[in-house]
Amino acid sequence: MKPAQRNRLSPEQVDAENERFRAEQQRYDLRYRCQDCLHFSEAEDRCSLGFLKSHFGDGPHRCRTEDGALVFCKYFELQ
Ligand code: SF4
Repeated sequence: MKPAQRNRLSPEQVDAENERFRAEQQRYDLRYRCQDCLHFSEAEDRCSLGFLKSHFGDGPHRCRTEDGALVFCKYFELQ
């Protein structure tokens, strides 16, 4: 097993984790997306570090991708 595959989850586990994350995001008003990050330029609609906003800023709140990888940006800084 490759190291990157070690922590991957089944589709059912991904759904359960994302549901739990959505509930916690709402309860605690968690900010983790580009729109709330110091590195995001609203005027240019892009990340000043060159990352794609769509990776962290769009769609329903989630903490896991379809294949179970964690979704987060280690450069996020709350503005
Ligand atoms: S550093 Fe990460 S969270 Fe912040 S704007 Fe760029 S991609 Fe988004």
